[in-house]
Amino acid sequence: MKNENIKTLLKGDRIEIPKREIDPNKPMVAFTFDDGPSVGNTERILAALDKVGGRATFFQLGYLMEKYPETVQAVAKQGSEIANHSYDHDWLTEKSLEDAKADISSVNDIAFSITGNEILLLRPPYGAFNTAIKEGITERVVMWDVDTRDWESRNTQSIIEMTKKYTYDGAIVLFHDIHSATIPAVEELIEYYDSLGYQFVTVSELYEIKGR
Ligand code: ZN
Repeated sequence: MKNENIKTLLKGDRIEIPKREIDPNKPMVAFTFDDGPSVGNTERILAALDKVGGRATFFQLGYLMEKYPETVQAVAKQGSEIANHSYDHDWLTEKSLEDAKADISSVNDIAFSITGNEILLLRPPYGAFNTAIKEGITERVVMWDVDTRDWESRNTQSIIEMTKKYTYDGAIVLFHDIHSATIPAVEELIEYYDSLGYQFVTVSELYEIKGR
C-alpha cells in the first residue's frame, strides 16, 4: 500500500508547525476541506489563507496522500492541519472494527511518513461512525456545524450564499477541495470573513480555545 516516493520526499525531516497567537476575544471560524489532497485546488486555498495569515483543516484520503505527497507537505508547511478522512472513502461502519481501525491507522502512518506529524482528528466518510469505532481510536471524531453543500450544488455563488447564511463565530464549516467551483467561493469567503475581523483557525486550535 505504501508509495516508495514518500520516504524519499520526507528525508527524515519533521515539518515544524509553529504555534501562534489567536485572540480568543475576536471571532474565528474553522474552514475544513474533505476528500483531497487535490493538486492545484489545495494550493490555491493555502495561498488564499496565507494572504490573511489564516489556517484551515484538510481531511484527506490516504490513497491520494500517497499519490500527491508534495501537496500534503504544502499543507503542513503552510501551518494548516492535516486530518484523517479514511484511506479511500469507504463506509467505516460497514467494516469490522478491526478493519476500520486498520484503515484509520494506515492514513495516520502515511501522514506521519510525509510530514513527521501525528494526526489528531478523524472525519469519517459520510459522517458515518459508531460507538465502537469512536471508543476504539485515539483520534477525535469531528463533524461540522455548517454544510455548504458544495458537493451538491457545484456552484460558486450558491456555496458563498450557503456559507454566509449559516456561519457564525466558532463554527466548523465543511467544503470539498476536489470541486473546482468551491475554490473561487473559498477565496472570496476568506476575504469576506477577514474583512469582518474573523480569524481562520484549525479545528484543533478551535477546540483548544473554545474548550470543546
Ligand atoms: Zn468525504
